Amino acid sequence: SITLSDRVKAVKPSPTLAITARAAAMRAAGKDIIGLGAGEPDFDTPEHIKTAGINAINSGFTKYTAVDGTAGLKKAVIAKFKRDNGLDYEPKQILVSCGGKQSFYNLAQALLNSGDEVIIPAPYWVSYPDMVLLADGVPVIVEAGQSQGFKITPAQLRAAITAKTRLLVINSPSNPTGAAYSLDELKALGDVLVDFPDVLIATDDMYEHILWNNGEFVNILNAHPGFYDRTIVLNGVSKAYSMTGWRIGYCAGPADLIDAMCIIQSQSTSNPTSISQVAAEAALNGDQGCIDAMMVEFKKRHDFVVAELNTIDGIECLATDGTFYVFPNVDKLIARLDGINDDLEFAEYLIEKAGVALVPGSAFGCPGHIRISIATSMANLENALARIKQAV
Ligand code: PLP
Repeated sequence: SITLSDRVKAVKPSPTLAITARAAAMRAAGKDIIGLGAGEPDFDTPEHIKTAGINAINSGFTKYTAVDGTAGLKKAVIAKFKRDNGLDYEPKQILVSCGGKQSFYNLAQALLNSGDEVIIPAPYWVSYPDMVLLADGVPVIVEAGQSQGFKITPAQLRAAITAKTRLLVINSPSNPTGAAYSLDELKALGDVLVDFPDVLIATDDMYEHILWNNGEFVNILNAHPGFYDRTIVLNGVSKAYSMTGWRIGYCAGPADLIDAMCIIQSQSTSNPTSISQVAAEAALNGDQGCIDAMMVEFKKRHDFVVAELNTIDGIECLATDGTFYVFPNVDKLIARLDGINDDLEFAEYLIEKAGVALVPGSAFGCPGHIRISIATSMANLENALARIKQAV
């Protein structure tokens, strides 16, 4: 067999993509599986966005573009940051990439030296620690359990910072918990960082638009405008416009950092797909009403699923602030089920016995929980909840 790099041995494949693949394979084998593992909206990409992509193909816009994105899309991104976030950027501060995942990957590659530490609150999006490892960095996990609403405290942040800390990652609203930091909470976390001017901040705002609590969306720059030169804002069209397959993410930050990230991208993928960039431009510049329609549906499903889960003996599920995930604690349920010792075995039990596929909390650095995606029809959710009740 082939000897592989130490680098690849240090990381694991994405567990969320794996569960989706497993559910698909079981379905192909004739099993009746309801998938609650998906990390993507179940809606179609809105019509005006698809049309823009089709027009791009028909007009021959099918060649390389500038590595960092077309002038038109960067203009739309700048207008979006101004409109939604009150942030001012110039084109040289914007980088468009092949999904939000590549934005963070570029950041880790451009920023980290071997041994540099990145503070990642848990539960975390599965890819942050592994992308840090791929850059020879050290993920420093700060645990924020259900008792603290899945949010880290200023004291925890202060305790985690060392001379090696390069970056703090904030993801709000959060995948997998759906929890969002309030302006006051971000202010308090930022007050700690005032004492550590060399620590950069990555705010991953991917779920900005899927938010029902906490009023308006805010990120740390709204709480601490003075952090402008040390903050990188990551976002994308995948979740807001149901465009996961188009692969467009974008970010904004200090020009020298963006420039370095662009060099990394220039030697890996080059530009994101030309056609997708045209579609993303239409998404950002077009009528934002398409987001509201999805939001109404997600909120309805959220209310149903949270209420139903909490009727099950042994499950405690917090209402979320947004996203299309809920993240119930199942510790007491595991304790009362014979032969099941942890969330991994519980998820396995549900897929085998109930035909319900979901992701164990351990994948997000938070054992004793499960992540349920509500990005599926109400009928599927009703059916899945009935099956889970039956199985436990
Ligand atoms: N950030 C968070 C928190 C996510 O949940 C995801 C996708 O699951 C991404 C970034 C990346 O999204 P994409 O690469 O599909 O644009």
